[in-house]
Amino acid sequence: MQLFTKIVSLHRITNLFVMVFTTEAELSNRLKTISDTQKTIGFVPTMGALHDGHLSLLKQSIKDNHFTVISIFVNPTQFNNTEDLKKYPRTLETDVEKIKSVSDSILIFAPSVEEMYHGKTISKKFDFDGLENQMEGKFRPGHFDGVGTIVKRLFEIVKPTKAYFGEKDFQQLQIIRKLVEKEKLKVEIIGCPIFREKNGLAMSSRNARLNDVEKKEASIIYNTLIKAKEYFGTKSANEVSKFVKKTFSKSNMFDLEYFEIADEKTLVSCKRKNKNKKYRAFIAVFVNNIRLIDTISFN
Ligand code: AMP
Repeated sequence: MQLFTKIVSLHRITNLFVMVFTTEAELSNRLKTISDTQKTIGFVPTMGALHDGHLSLLKQSIKDNHFTVISIFVNPTQFNNTEDLKKYPRTLETDVEKIKSVSDSILIFAPSVEEMYHGKTISKKFDFDGLENQMEGKFRPGHFDGVGTIVKRLFEIVKPTKAYFGEKDFQQLQIIRKLVEKEKLKVEIIGCPIFREKNGLAMSSRNARLNDVEKKEASIIYNTLIKAKEYFGTKSANEVSKFVKKTFSKSNMFDLEYFEIADEKTLVSCKRKNKNKKYRAFIAVFVNNIRLIDTISFN
């Protein structure tokens, strides 16, 4: 039995050696041989603890490109809460297995904090034309500076043709588009739809921290968004917000942090409906100190 366990772990370690690049130099060397042949590179940045939502981004990238790179890096500068950073799930071995189940040829980049930040674990300051001051930006100060810093650095290393981001983090997606525009980066940003559990809960690495009851009850988030969308057909943004607040005030398991109906492009809160604009609802909720976000298009 002991011998068997040893063989399994050795096999796993071998897999990691074969597939996982941990330094910029190693990955760049490999990618150089690809860019020399003018083949396209698709890139999926993640923080690991992979689920089917992440894998859907990978599948899209494989469909669109000759090669696909995924990064797995829990970026410390985008966490404004040290407890959240400490508790963020880290599951590299299972992640590698899941990636392999999609395709054997995906290149995995899993660097250390030192490799990415060279001893200076701080963010650069970005101006995203105000997108960074809404919702997540209000409640997680500095978060988008951390995101901008790491995504820019990853883009410089991977030099992707296309990069894939989930609409689950819609504000982040718009901010990355702004980053590309402002910094004149040569990469096309592709937004991908949200993958959900059967009960509607948006898949998230943080869901691994929920117990079974919390996971089941978390259907309240998507169900409320669906109802909010329906009400928005006939009611004002203010009335819809009141409905959402009231719904969560009745729950003793979930605490609403924010609910916003905002313009998809500017992310500015909707005061009065304008039929030429596209709106989207955004929500952040706490359950047992675990923060969950979700979003839905109102068009
Ligand atoms: P994360 O590992 O949470 O930083 O996410 C990495 C990428 O996967 C981001 O672009 C996310 O928006 C995307 N993503 C996370 N959850 C989902 C989901 N449920 N459906 C689709 N994409 C997702």
